[in-house]
Amino acid sequence: MSNIVAIVGRPNVGKSTLFNRLIQRREAIVDAVSGVTRDRHYGKTDWNGREFSLIDTGGYVVGSDDIFEQEIDKQVELAIDEADAILFVVDVETGVTGMDEDVAQLLRQTDKPVLVAVNKVDNGQREADAVEFYSLGLGEYYSISGINGSGTGELLDALVEVL
Ligand code: GDP
Ligand code: MG
Repeated sequence: MSNIVAIVGRPNVGKSTLFNRLIQRREAIVDAVSGVTRDRHYGKTDWNGREFSLIDTGGYVVGSDDIFEQEIDKQVELAIDEADAILFVVDVETGVTGMDEDVAQLLRQTDKPVLVAVNKVDNGQREADAVEFYSLGLGEYYSISGINGSGTGELLDALVEVL
């Protein structure tokens, strides 16, 4: 039995940072400059005795905005096909972007569980800003900080619940 969880979202929201934290090994390549991770990365982890595989998506080709968006859509469609649950990461620093809305639109079309993780909520002040992500139409969200780990326990609790 293998439960597969795909981490999706536009570049720079912190997917690879979260992936690294969750697998507790530095396997994914985090590029602080462009936020581009070159390949899809897989890692195994477990929470409360439940094992699952994580996919860090983001092998994006940096080109025109069109190609960029198409690449993300492809990754999301692949994730919808092969994952058992999807972790949709967004960024409280930038707020909701058009690209987030495009990804959300794709994710609203799947019956698979989708968990929204509002990342970069490094302090309580940013908690209030996270509320705007309700507008993505994907329901409840989890405020997390991939950097300091806050909120990731609650996110994992919810994640293993839907697997
Ligand atoms: P990806 O492109 O979605 O994989 O994003 P990365 O994991 O490469 O991170 C993009 C940038 O966001 C990097 O500079 C990270 O250090 C930063 N970042 C990731 N998570 C957090 C977080 O929880 N808080 C803050 N403040 N920055 C973060
Ligand atoms: Mg990445």
